[in-house]
Amino acid sequence: MTISSETALGRTRRARRIGRALTEAHPDAHCELDHSSPLELAVATILSAQCTDKKVNEVTPKLFVRYPSAADYAGADRTELEELIRPTGFYRNKTDSLIKLGQALVERYDGQVPGKLADLVTLPGIGRKTANVILGNAFGVPGITVDTHFQRLVGRWGLTTQTDPVKIEHEIGALFPKREWTMLSHRIIFHGRRVCHARKPACGACTLAKLCPSYGTGPTEPALAAKLLKGPRARDLAAAAGVDPALVPQQAVVAEVP
Ligand code: SF4
Repeated sequence: MTISSETALGRTRRARRIGRALTEAHPDAHCELDHSSPLELAVATILSAQCTDKKVNEVTPKLFVRYPSAADYAGADRTELEELIRPTGFYRNKTDSLIKLGQALVERYDGQVPGKLADLVTLPGIGRKTANVILGNAFGVPGITVDTHFQRLVGRWGLTTQTDPVKIEHEIGALFPKREWTMLSHRIIFHGRRVCHARKPACGACTLAKLCPSYGTGPTEPALAAKLLKGPRARDLAAAAGVDPALVPQQAVVAEVP
């Protein structure tokens, strides 16, 4: 398909179709960082920089028990905190962010994570992307999370030509009802991690093929594409795209998603 002659209305309609196809393809989409409070999610999101969510989830149970409040991070022993979060990489910088985050929350917000974007982005270690993750998943305020997967996929779909994350957030936000923003973000990120990979997207086993102007960026041959799917639902994803699930190797099913 070509998008050069697509009208604004046509683009909105195609975007909504993509949204519906993603809803069907990824019924399991959710925030992949384990948390039970805004503070835990803020901490997990800081730790997730340059690190897989899986690795973060291995580290956080111990961390959350040891540091249950903002005051605990504010007064943390640096060496002990560094040791606990070391497996997530960049642990010195992350320790710095966590201690400063704890201090700022205690000093300015009575130890509570605020529920407004304008306040969240003033906190150490919390950029706009992180703030939207926290708003959407810990406060139920719709938010679009433009991470590397999101940016790559909406570009491949020709839904925006913007490269600045804030502009992407606004352009994509205008194509979808606000109430859908948080789940839409999860589904796009799920699709990016499991199907539409950065280097070799599984075009031949993708349910969005008919809606995507970048179809053909990756292998279109079903047998090749099926091998590129990832995650526990890789065979369901193949079946949904009309590809024989038996073509998906076991290693794809158990593969760690990036
Ligand atoms: S058809 Fe290919 S490029 Fe388009 S969304 Fe699917 S995997 Fe990505």
